[in-house]
Order: sequence, then structure tokens, then C-alpha cells
Amino acid sequence: MSYKSNFKNVKGTRDILPEEAIKWKKTEDVIRGKMESYNFREVKFPTFESTDLFRKSTGESTDIVRKEMFTFEDMGGRSLTLKPEGTPSVVRMFLQHGLFNRGALQKFYYIERMFRQERPQKGRYREFRQFGAEVIGSGSAETDAQLVKSALDIFEELDIKGVELNINSIGCPKCRKDFVRELKSFLKEKLTGLCEDCNRRYSENPMRILDCKKDREKIKDAPLPSDFLCDGCKGHFEEFENRLDYLKIRFNIDNHLVRGLDYYTKTVFEFIHSDLGSQNEVGGGGRYDELIKFMGGEDTPASGYAVGIDRMMLLLPEKEEKLSVDIYLVTFDNESDLAGWKILNFLREKGFSCDKDPMRRSVKAQFREADRQNAKWVIIIGEDERKRGIVQLKNMDKGEQKEVSMNVDKIIKELKC
Ligand code: AMP
Repeated sequence: MSYKSNFKNVKGTRDILPEEAIKWKKTEDVIRGKMESYNFREVKFPTFESTDLFRKSTGESTDIVRKEMFTFEDMGGRSLTLKPEGTPSVVRMFLQHGLFNRGALQKFYYIERMFRQERPQKGRYREFRQFGAEVIGSGSAETDAQLVKSALDIFEELDIKGVELNINSIGCPKCRKDFVRELKSFLKEKLTGLCEDCNRRYSENPMRILDCKKDREKIKDAPLPSDFLCDGCKGHFEEFENRLDYLKIRFNIDNHLVRGLDYYTKTVFEFIHSDLGSQNEVGGGGRYDELIKFMGGEDTPASGYAVGIDRMMLLLPEKEEKLSVDIYLVTFDNESDLAGWKILNFLREKGFSCDKDPMRRSVKAQFREADRQNAKWVIIIGEDERKRGIVQLKNMDKGEQKEVSMNVDKIIKELKC
């Protein structure tokens, strides 16, 4: 056939065709199942929020806010932004709907689309999907370890092998003060030799210079957050490591790991995979003990992570998904078609997927369609069958055909044999 499309999807967005959609559905089922096994509650939130929400919480100095947000004005001149990440919306929901009244500890998860204006490449899109988990109300290192474990459980259930875990502690605002002062004095003389981004970060968020890929060599002797941790933060990190050990989770300590967002405190972690090439991060997260207060709440510790589902899909083991339907109807005349139609509707109620030809094409064309749809069974009805009160039931795998009474329960009994 020679169809052509006058339109194409927009750069950085992706179409998910039926075969791939099956994998997405299975993946989302695994995510939901696992998250619920940890007693996380699913939340959904809007596609766009006020721009200020991200500016203030994700942080003015982050790449996301500086250059990646899809921001637009509504007709009333209000600035809105397509959500680039989930945590600000979850915290806003938590505060706006008084969810703190439901108990000291709240555990949420989400599966949502995110939007960032990045240069598209493999594993990096402008519209992508994330699942994320947030625990609000617990400051314990056990919570951080449990979060890590929940993501690893999902990778394992999906048979994704080779995910590595990097962890670090970037301390609390108290210990970070001393660290940032030392870091700035170390960087002062080196600034002219560092990239443009590092120069800007020097005044806006100097800690982020540590994870600059371009200048890695030049800053290898820089002071690190781990050298300045107060006793509380040190103990918290040790407890986090112990809990991971206890769960037999292998990890690398990456002293340069700081993560891109402004709100992180203490624990930070990321999941990486070498098969992903330059976009090797599958997910990441950390503790954000200051954010709830900053957004208007009480002093409340919290921790969470997000995993990119599109990247995770790239890591799924190769497996061809075959589209199929349980039952296809083939009929010889109008009256048989009506009788079969009714049977299909009963079978659908019982959970079978069923289809038929709505155009009443020839019997040969109906059989061809049953083949194309990979029907497991075909129900055949003609005048003779109708008169005898039966249907022909053909098992397409085995090629066997049987006469069965035209009775839904009897047909189901045969289908289940
Ligand atoms: P972040 O919210 O930046 O911590 O990202 C968490 C995860 O989301 C990353 O590890 C990626 O798997 C995924 N992710 C972030 N940005 C993109 C993007 N532009 N395209 C696809 N996945 C992304």
C-alpha cells in the first residue's frame, strides 16, 4: 500500500506502537505491583503546574529550570510549565491537600510523563516517562535503603541485569556551609581554566562543579562533601551503608556524586547501566529534608527517587511480543453473524478477547483476518450449525476442530480444556 503521512511526530517525542505497548503495560504492571508491595500509594498529578513551583523547588540554578523547561503563558498571562520532574508536584499535593493529617509517614509513587527541552538522542527525549517514589515524614537511613531496594526489586523482576548503584552523602546545610567555603577557595584560582558552566555554577551552586564531566580531571583534588560531614550526617551515611549491606545490595561510593537538583540533603544515589552509552543513568534520587519546610510546611524529612521508564525499556531483555486475540468469529450468513456476535459479547464479559469482521467480508477473508490477528481459537457458524444448535470451535495452534453446543458455558469449558 502506498500511504504516506503528511505529518511527523515532533522531535524528542516517541510513538509507542502496539507490540511495544504490550511491554510498557507489563512494565507498568510490575512497577505498580512492587510499589504496592511496599505500601506506597499511587498518586497522579497535572501535566502542567505554575512555573514558580519548579523555579522555587527544583531550583533556579539547575539545568532543568535554567534551560530545559517547556514554559508558556495561559490566556490570563499566568506562566505555566509542563512538569519536568515529579517531586515538586508530590510535595505540593501533600501540603495543599493536608495529607500530613493522615499520619506522620506518607508513602507515594507515581508513573507520569515528564517534559524537558534537551537535545534528543538515544535515551534522551523531550517527552519521557518516569516512575518515582517519595517517602515523606521519615528521616531514617533505613528509609533511603528501602527506597533503593524497591527500585532494584523492579529491575530484578523485569530481568534487567547489570544496574550499578552509586551512593554519596552531601551533608546537611550545616556541614555544607564549611564545605562550600573550602570548595570556593580551592576553585578560585582555577576558575579561568574551567568551562563556562562551572564558572556560572561557582556563584550559583558551586557543589555542582564536582560532577562536571568536562572538568573532572582539573578538579580531582577538590575538597569533597564527605570530608566535611558533621557527626549526624556521617552516622546517617554509615547507617545507610549498613542497611544496604544487610540487604546484600552492592554499591560504589562516588564522592563526586552530588546530583543536579537543589533540594537534596544527606543521602544521594543513582542507578547507572553501561549499555545506555552516554545517557547511562537509569534513575536517581536522595533525601530532601529541607524542601517541605521551604515549600510552606513544617520541618519534615523526606526522601525519594525517580527512574526513567524509557531508559529502562532499552534495558529489557530482547523478547518478541506477538499480538494475538483469544477468539475470532467466522460466519457464513447474516443470521449466524448476529448469533455469533451475541456469543462474543458474553465471552468478553468472561474475560476473553474476541473479535469479528464488521464488514461481513467473504468466509475466506474472515479466516485470513483470523490468521493475521493470531487468533488462538476460531468460532465458525453457518446455517447448518445454527439449525443444529452448535458452533464449530477450531483450535488454531493444533488445527483441530470440534462441534460444541451453542451455549456460552459449554464453549468456555472447551476453551479452558
Ligand atoms: P532526574 O529527574 O533528572 O533525576 O532523572 C531521573 C531519571 O529520569 C534519569 O535517570 C533518566 O532515566 C530519566 N530521564 C531524565 N531525563 C530524561 C530525558 N530527557 N529522556 C529520557 N529519560 C530521562
